[in-house]
Amino acid sequence: MDFIFPLQQVSLPIVGDQKRFPVRRIYCVGRNYLDHIRETAGADEREPPFFFQKPTDAILENGGEFPYPPLSEKTHHEIELVVAIGTGGKEIEAENALDHVFGYTVGIDMTRRDLQGVAKEMRRPWEAGKSFDHAAPCSAIVPAADIGHPQGGRIWLAVNGEIRQDGDLAQQIWSVPESIAHLTTLFELAPGDLIMTGTPAGVGSVNRGDKVTGGIAGIADIEITVV
Ligand code: MN
Repeated sequence: MDFIFPLQQVSLPIVGDQKRFPVRRIYCVGRNYLDHIRETAGADEREPPFFFQKPTDAILENGGEFPYPPLSEKTHHEIELVVAIGTGGKEIEAENALDHVFGYTVGIDMTRRDLQGVAKEMRRPWEAGKSFDHAAPCSAIVPAADIGHPQGGRIWLAVNGEIRQDGDLAQQIWSVPESIAHLTTLFELAPGDLIMTGTPAGVGSVNRGDKVTGGIAGIADIEITVV
């Protein structure tokens, strides 16, 4: 097929493999840790999970530079477990959901919190707050064949060496299988989809020059520089 200009397939490295993981869509779980819901005023702790998307080309690879986004004075970090889907499906049962997972990594759901706040107040979509350029820093994917399916493990983020977020995957309200089950009632998953599964408490602002580091024990680490 001939195109009038080239368009690159967005992808991520795979640990221990020369081949890369092509990325189709990025889904994000809205609120998935109680302590983060409690630091976000007014949210219901019992409502079912909800989802939003980031554009695929918002991915920023590990070690990259995150340009401070325009029209924001309050851009926040949210460290998250990222699930990489290897086989698709709709209405996937939680019991079988892990069969669809190729691997895991760590990502940061960068958020223009000020613009998200305006959107919430005015009942507008979240795109300006969540789906801007470079808003999805993501590390290399680690195959589940190598590490299994982690149900716990420290998840942390530091800014210039100072710990800001420090939680455990076991604190997730909706487990990975439950999130996949809910998500696939709404959308058909396909190979190449990523799911960012929510963040623990301690979200906060970044500034130009900051070195942001984070990780999930037994899975992956990530480091970006805000420029
Ligand atoms: Mn998030």
